[in-house]
Amino acid sequence: MNYQVDEKGYYGEFGGAYVPEILYATVRNLQEQYRGIVESQEFKQEYHALLKDYVGRPSPLYFARRMSEKYGCQLYLKREDLNHTGAHKINNTIGQILLAKKMGKTRIIAETGAGQHGVATATVCALMGMQCEVFMGATDVERQHTNVERMKMLGAQVHPVRTGNMTLSDACSEAIRDWCCHPADTFYIVGSTMGPHPYPDLVARMQSVISEEIKWQLEEKIGRDYPDYLMACIGGGSNAAGTIYHYMDDERVKIVLAEAGGHGWDTDYTAATIHRGTTGILHGAKMLVMQDNDGQIQEAFTISAGLDYPGVGPMHCNMARQGRTQVLSINDDEAIRGGYELTRMEGIIPAIESAHAIAALAKVPFKKDDVVVLTVSGRGDKDVETYLKNKQLAGDYGNF
Ligand SMILES: *Cc1c(COP(=O)(O)O)cnc(C)c1O
Repeated sequence: MNYQVDEKGYYGEFGGAYVPEILYATVRNLQEQYRGIVESQEFKQEYHALLKDYVGRPSPLYFARRMSEKYGCQLYLKREDLNHTGAHKINNTIGQILLAKKMGKTRIIAETGAGQHGVATATVCALMGMQCEVFMGATDVERQHTNVERMKMLGAQVHPVRTGNMTLSDACSEAIRDWCCHPADTFYIVGSTMGPHPYPDLVARMQSVISEEIKWQLEEKIGRDYPDYLMACIGGGSNAAGTIYHYMDDERVKIVLAEAGGHGWDTDYTAATIHRGTTGILHGAKMLVMQDNDGQIQEAFTISAGLDYPGVGPMHCNMARQGRTQVLSINDDEAIRGGYELTRMEGIIPAIESAHAIAALAKVPFKKDDVVVLTVSGRGDKDVETYLKNKQLAGDYGNF
């Protein structure tokens, strides 16, 4: 079995590079160069030095004692929430900006939904002294005002996008449009395991540091380098890809991923793309997308801005289709409860995205000795308002 990308940029039937003709040369150039660069000693040294001293890696692997007792397993949390800028996204933007520099690009563009990837991109552009332009749906610009101000403080220009639903999907389209106008000097830093080949593979490699660390951290803590279960939330799929990267072909390791059910995967208000999607092409790749019978993209719905995307990366479409991963749909109310539970039982306020993975713990029939590694993709500071607004869903934990 091999779940990695093939020579042509596909994961099974998913993936590929469906881009406008004007981008062919640029995308082919990237396809031809990225592996050589990211596998070079020079790149690896710079990348790992920044991950260590700037991002604060390795992120801890923390044994969650009280949650382990509650769920009858040995639960370890991979703490991506402790990274600089508060989530796993910085691992990827550090890598891509180094790649952009080595390819001689001078201008950076990015799409963002909630603003997390926009902030992570603006951060590394400030670090490298590079021009940064971020495309963000006008609806999100209003909803995520603090992140917009952070990006501006960091020196980025934020372009509100007023097409479609004015959210993430439209921001992606607009970023691709901008790229078409400036293919020579511009590098597009994609925020998740999506987009045309080689982006899904590139982003997965940049996030693979997560499972690289899990391996030696587990060895150190329990004397074997693999868990029985890996768990993560899944939007576009980058923190999940990083969590499973070095274990994909290891059948001893079960993989359980949590996608955003919204009000329920069988309702009209959902972002559970693997449950609900059908094969289509979105933002340069063939993947599972939520679309109507005419192929019109349907709006995703979830309480979690970071999971609010009507598609999911091709690697994950293939692994779910092959039965390698089990994907659970976690509804808004379950995620809120999961977030409060981790807060009260371990003193960790998780991002509402990560709370979906926490909520999935209740749905897996663990045995007492099972070693479970769950990635906390980000911290919940940005979600405090959402948690408070929904505290009635948190049972006893909401009585304060
Ligand atoms: C963006 C984001 C996600 C979802 O993106 P993936 O590419 O699926 O990882 C999850 N958690 C946090 C904290 C995020 O910021």
